[in-house]
Order: sequence, then C-alpha cells, then structure tokens
Amino acid sequence: MEVPWLLLVHGSVTALVVVSFLCGQWPIFEGTFIQSINNFLTFGAYYYLLRLVQAVCGTGARDLVLGVERYCCDRPNPILQVFYVAIIGVTYLIIVQTSFEYIPGYYVSGLHRYLSVVAVLIGATLFVLTSFSDPGTVTAENVSQYVSSYPYDNLIFVEKECSTCKITRPARAKHCRICDKCVARFDHHCGWMNNCIGEKNIRYFVAFLVWHFLICVYGAVVIGFILAGELKERKVIYILTVYYGIENSFSGLFPHVAQWLLAVHNTQILLSVFLAILALLLGGFCTYHLHLCLSNTTTNETFKWQDYIMWMKKENEAKANTAALKSSIGSNNSNAHKPPPSKWRAFFVRSQTPSVEPVVKNNIYDRGMIRNLCEVVVPLSERKSFARRKSD
Ligand SMILES: [Zn+2]
Ligand SMILES: [Zn+2]
Repeated sequence: MEVPWLLLVHGSVTALVVVSFLCGQWPIFEGTFIQSINNFLTFGAYYYLLRLVQAVCGTGARDLVLGVERYCCDRPNPILQVFYVAIIGVTYLIIVQTSFEYIPGYYVSGLHRYLSVVAVLIGATLFVLTSFSDPGTVTAENVSQYVSSYPYDNLIFVEKECSTCKITRPARAKHCRICDKCVARFDHHCGWMNNCIGEKNIRYFVAFLVWHFLICVYGAVVIGFILAGELKERKVIYILTVYYGIENSFSGLFPHVAQWLLAVHNTQILLSVFLAILALLLGGFCTYHLHLCLSNTTTNETFKWQDYIMWMKKENEAKANTAALKSSIGSNNSNAHKPPPSKWRAFFVRSQTPSVEPVVKNNIYDRGMIRNLCEVVVPLSERKSFARRKSD
C-alpha cells in the first residue's frame, strides 16, 4: 500500500501548489495558508533567488536575472503560448499512445477517436483567434468610433487623454503597458495569449475558457468510462470478490479495485486526475468571466470598483463622523445649563455609531443579461448602427 500513499501525497502537494499559485489571491483565501503559499511563490521565492544569485555569482548575474524577468513579464513574448501548445500537444499525445488502444471499448464508442481530434482542433482555433486577433486597439483613426461606443460614467471613467498615445482615452479603455497601446473595453493582458483581452476578442477568450473546461471534463469522463469498461470486460470485481472472499460491498471492494487500477492503469488514473484538476480550475475562471460578461463588467473595472467603493466608504465615514461631532458640540452647548447626564446615559450616547451612507455600485454599462451577452458576442464598435453614427 506504499505506492497509493505516495501517489496521494504527490497529488495533494501538486494540487495545493497549483491552486495556491493560481487562486491564492482570491478573496476567499485571504489570511489563509493558501495566500501565504501564493505570496511565497509569486514574490518571496523570486526575492530569495535574487539574493542567492547576487551572493553566489555577483551583481552582473543578478542584473541578468532581472533582464530575463523584464522580458518575461513586462514585454510581449510567446513563452506561455509555447507552454500552452506543449501542454495540449503532450497531453493529447499521451492520451493517444496510452488510451486509444481501449477505444472502442465496452462503454466507449470508436467515434471518440475522431471526436477528440475535432475537440482539440476547435480548442486550438479558439487559442489562435484570441491570441492573434485585434483586441480593439484604439488609434487616432478609430478613436471617435470607440468614444461613441460607451459614455463616461464620471465615477471610474472620466474623459482624459492617454499620456502615452496622445489621444482621447475612450470610457472603459486602458493603456496596456506590456503591449504599449490603448485597448477598448480593456479586460486584462493575458500572458497565455500574449495579447490583451479587450472589446473585440473577449468573445473568443470566454469561448476558449468554456471549450477547454468542456474538453477537460470530456477527457476525464471518457477515461473514466474506459476504466469502467476494463473492470467489466476483465471481470475484475468478480475475481477480487472471490479472491479476497469478501462481500460484494462498495467499502470492502473499493481499496482492492483502486489498487488494481493504480497497478494496471496508472497512466489513465494520473491523466484523469490531471484533467479533473484542470477542469476545476478552468470551471472557476469560466464562472468568473461569464459572471463579468453577464453583468457587463471587466476584470479591470472590478479592481476600479473595489478602489472606488473603498474610497467612498472612507469619505462617507469621515462625513458621518464630522456630522456626529457637530451635533454633539451643538447639544453640549444647548445642555450647558442642564445637570450632567448619568454615567449610564453618557455611556449609551457615546456608544452610538454615526450612520454611514451605504456605497452603491452604479454600473451604467449593465443593460440586462441578454443585452450584455449580445454586447460581448457582437461588440458595439462593430455594429452597423455605430458605423452609421460615425458617418453622420
Ligand atoms: Zn494609450
Ligand atoms: Zn496587452
């Protein structure tokens, strides 16, 4: 039973590292050890590496590491794109080499050999579309079209010029420091796509996420059916029941079946666990981005709203405290000739907290789920009505 324990520990540690790295900054993990692991992986480990390199190899080597970091994180580069192609290519190759021999199987039709190719090709097409299509670059020629797409809400977007591009920055646009250009309805710069995600390619990006989530679920389920077919065809459950002389119960049989699967089909087990973890992560990203699409918000705007709400809360608290102080001074003056209140009364009067006006997020771009979704599928700047307005 040593091998299953080793696999369990290995799988748990891998899952913990992957989840901490990708999701450690999510609000639900705030203050937990997952956030601490994320901080170490994203900042701490790099800081200690720099110190180690400087101590061992000198300042020149440290500058070289900093240069590599600048190229990888601050400049457009295809590193993660190559990584994506490698992950997809290698995973699919392993599946073909190790699992296609079981297709067709007891529960799996031969059609899945071809369906899987089509599924991967569609995923690759969405990747190319997201990576190489225009995200909605704002230039001096098309800026008026983008400005007419969305009004300024004067809360998180005010009319101003981009200091780098020297053109009016449309509402919801942002200057991407990596691509060095203004992008309409800016969502975020995606390292995996080596491209900004903006008004014109958010549809491909969301389709990419949803499709890859479905591919992972599809792969994990088909492998699950391959293993179930193997158990059935080889009469494994019957043999194990007779061999160990145990009752045909789930709890009695499960450890022996798991042990047999790990011994005979360890590659398929690892593949299905890998695909299930990916599906879980992609499912989280899909849900988040679908929520953003349905509420007509972007990732960039989510951060802007957080800052705005925090700032407004502080301002309202300051206003409420000032008003409470003024009223207490006024009541003290008017009560100057009255006898002092009892200690109990004074305690309760002091403990009253001033009422703070609640901050409401007023997203003027939210026009209802259906219209919001239509806006993602057919961007406003691409619609005929806007082309007409531009020529008017
Ligand atoms: Zn700009
Ligand atoms: Zn960018």
